[in-house]
Amino acid sequence: MAEKCDWCAKAAAELKQIQLPFRHKSEEAKTCGEPCEKELRKFIEYADGHIMHYFIGLILSILSGLIITFWRIKIDYGALGVLIIFAGSGVTLMKYPFVTHRTITLLGAKKAIASGRIIGAVSIVFGIAFWFVLATILPRP
Ligand SMILES: [Zn+2]
Repeated sequence: MAEKCDWCAKAAAELKQIQLPFRHKSEEAKTCGEPCEKELRKFIEYADGHIMHYFIGLILSILSGLIITFWRIKIDYGALGVLIIFAGSGVTLMKYPFVTHRTITLLGAKKAIASGRIIGAVSIVFGIAFWFVLATILPRP
């Protein structure tokens, strides 16, 4: 099997080995050409600068959502907390579409980023739908 470009995931006879600085280390990657290398560098740079925002966004969404869920369980079945968990994580993932290294290797960074954003969007829609059912359709607890 031919090797694939780490950005566009297209197989190419000749791939350029590059080094990308990430988390004070150097990650090896391969790209099929200048445009893909540029995009991949831009993304890794963005990920390197925002990885903490990503974790903080996820942790805050889940923690505050859980607290609000328990606090409001007798008011609205915790609907608001559920909305915060799913919409908060979703917004975080859309803004910081950082998926696992394995996903990037498998799909190429370009598609991996797109799938991260789609998962984020689905999570937001799910959160809103869940909130809608719990808070507006069901009778008060
Ligand atoms: Zn490429």
